Amino acid sequence: MAFIQTVRGRIHPSELGLTLIHEHILCDFIGAEKTGPHRWDRAEVAERITPYLQAIVDQGITAFVDCSPRYIGRDPLLLRHLSEKTGLHILTNTGFYKEPFLPRWALEAPAEELAEHWVAEWQEGIEGTGVRPGFIKIAVNPGALIPVQQRIVRAAALTHRATGLLVASHTAEAQAAYESLEIIERAGMAPGRYVIVHANAIRNLADHEALAARGAWLEYDGLQADSAEWHLTLVRYALERGYGGQILLSHDAGWYEAGQPLGGTVRPYTYLMAEFVPLLRRAGLGEEEIRQLLIENPRRALSIA
Ligand SMILES: [Zn+2]
Repeated sequence: MAFIQTVRGRIHPSELGLTLIHEHILCDFIGAEKTGPHRWDRAEVAERITPYLQAIVDQGITAFVDCSPRYIGRDPLLLRHLSEKTGLHILTNTGFYKEPFLPRWALEAPAEELAEHWVAEWQEGIEGTGVRPGFIKIAVNPGALIPVQQRIVRAAALTHRATGLLVASHTAEAQAAYESLEIIERAGMAPGRYVIVHANAIRNLADHEALAARGAWLEYDGLQADSAEWHLTLVRYALERGYGGQILLSHDAGWYEAGQPLGGTVRPYTYLMAEFVPLLRRAGLGEEEIRQLLIENPRRALSIA
């Protein structure tokens, strides 16, 4: 039976509910060689972030997908604590980002070796915590993919084939998106399990339609007041062209930044429900379409068969 893997264990997909598919609780940009839990105080991060999570709970959000990858502040114990405290379903990830957030050994490692590490996190839990990843998070460089990012994309496809996990790939540009889809297809993975993260950064609407026609998910994150017009254009275009079932929406907001006093400035996660959903309604979207975007699409994307 299908399930979704949260930091507190498996849930039935119908339990997921209203979902923010791409947000961050904690980030650390010091680099792979220097980062680690010694860089932050879990209690302080939890205290700082809890009011922001409580604000979305009050809006009716029930699920929060934490997209901080390993070596950029992924902390499964912090996420589990916050999930217990707020009642939110929280998901974390396996996978790697890109330089300078890669460990040295990964720069030359074959895709099979990278995949072995990620599959092990799925099977045994992350770093001895018992917390399992709910998806695979990777990144690609813009333009033609450099060799290490090609191997990372291929490793994600191999990990997907071994685990069934969704792949979410930081991709802010069309050529990188097309090349990534070629790599995963060659590795035997269907684009329907692959999310082009930050697809809102792709300016040409024809690329959106073409990538959707290939079967990929398009994630329109970075949602905030001054982007709302463009996000609305992208959503309406998708609905008109018939690929509303492949769209994901989120803020890519938050976070407590390690190394900053009290984590620096935290951006709230509330714009989508407070402002953007009313905007969608004013633009003529029905409740069925809004439900598809915020509940059904994330549920289908994150479900593991
Ligand atoms: Zn992000």
